[in-house]
Amino acid sequence: MKNAHLWNCPNCDLANPVEPRQAGQSLVCAGCKKEFEAPKLRELTQLPLSNPEGKPSKQVSGSAKQTGSSAMFAIGLAMAIIGGAAGGTLYRYASSLIPDISPDEYVARQNELLDTVPINQLYARWEELYAQRHVPEWQESEVKSLYKQSGYLKTIATGLLAVAAGGVLMTGFSLLSSRRSLQEQ
Ligand SMILES: [Zn+2]
Repeated sequence: MKNAHLWNCPNCDLANPVEPRQAGQSLVCAGCKKEFEAPKLRELTQLPLSNPEGKPSKQVSGSAKQTGSSAMFAIGLAMAIIGGAAGGTLYRYASSLIPDISPDEYVARQNELLDTVPINQLYARWEELYAQRHVPEWQESEVKSLYKQSGYLKTIATGLLAVAAGGVLMTGFSLLSSRRSLQEQ
């Protein structure tokens, strides 16, 4: 009998253990077999416990479990929200760096654009590239590094989204375990 309180029968004065869930209900006294109405919950919980040694340890383990699962819930929720937001934002940013076409197509498109640039501007760019690398490659190396960068960022974003998924699992698990410990009490 969990968390039962001792309530004295108004007829024979026998201490009957009454559980909180039985508060206010009609019960039969174990001694005189007469029916009586159990006290209301507020009144009942002020009466002495039928197992005073058993209760505190039960309560401690229950509340420790409760604290553990609510901490897990908070951490899981934070992981889900922060990981999801950061991962999602980073993934969108990484995708925005490059168009949704292959690197070769992108280079070809950029080279077409290059052909329309006036020669004085183009020459200035050529000089710039020549000064940097001595071998002007126009778009190729830049496009390649952009795709590489985007791929790298997408990998990090995927990691963050995995953290978010872990957080969702943790939140769900803590909800399940707190429900279970409530049922145990
Ligand atoms: Zn009685």
